[in-house]
Amino acid sequence: MSASPRRLLLTSIHDVSPRFEGEIDRLLDVLAPQVGMRLAMLVVPNHWGDAPLVPGSPFARRLRGWADAGVEMFLHGFTHRDAGSHAGLADQLRGRLMTASEGEFLGLSRHEASRLIVHGRALVEEVIGRSIDGFVAPAWLYGRGTLEALDEHKVAIAEDHFRVWSPASGEQLARGPVITWASRSKARLASSLVAAALLRRAPIEVLRIGVHPPDVRHPRLMRSIARTLAVAGRNRRPAAYVDLLNAGSSRIVRHARCSQSERPS
Ligand SMILES: [Zn+2]
Repeated sequence: MSASPRRLLLTSIHDVSPRFEGEIDRLLDVLAPQVGMRLAMLVVPNHWGDAPLVPGSPFARRLRGWADAGVEMFLHGFTHRDAGSHAGLADQLRGRLMTASEGEFLGLSRHEASRLIVHGRALVEEVIGRSIDGFVAPAWLYGRGTLEALDEHKVAIAEDHFRVWSPASGEQLARGPVITWASRSKARLASSLVAAALLRRAPIEVLRIGVHPPDVRHPRLMRSIARTLAVAGRNRRPAAYVDLLNAGSSRIVRHARCSQSERPS
């Protein structure tokens, strides 16, 4: 079956950090046969404050190699860990219960979020030798200060559980839930297997799949990831997040131009 140009598949690896190098390799082993290098990596500059991304290190060279091979690179928080300074009790509970205290950008002021985005972006861009493609908050949780900071810095692309948007233009780029797997408890693992089985066949225009380093510890979960990619890949084109920018008519024009000249120089 040929892939409809409107049916896209966006795949991402979360929590890319030297701490999880082995896990990232195992995830790539499962993803690459389906999507090649047409995927995104969400990079954490200093996971939990003790796994720094160091320019010139072996892992930094690997990250640049993946970027050179076409992997999209997103800044993904700074330490990924929630320092626990939420203004409201509701946000405090949301951060703790939903993410095991990993909602780093949920409770930050605009000033704090801005400082970490500037610092993290500079580090990741130094390592990969190009601009980042966007920002994704840890656990997809954005507080008001973070949303304001992303607008201020004209970040091209951001996403949460339910949508992809451009802080730079204010444009909504895609809608629909992301398929992801949870493994902190047997109940969560079981429900994420069920959700993946349902959502991978859903008639969503842009289907997003997000995988995490701890996924590799669970064979059933890894089989579900492989199956989800195989099923979704039957009638979807593996795509890049940047394909969503200027989508619609310009997407068709771009395709027409490519097919005429094969490969623009
Ligand atoms: Zn994460």
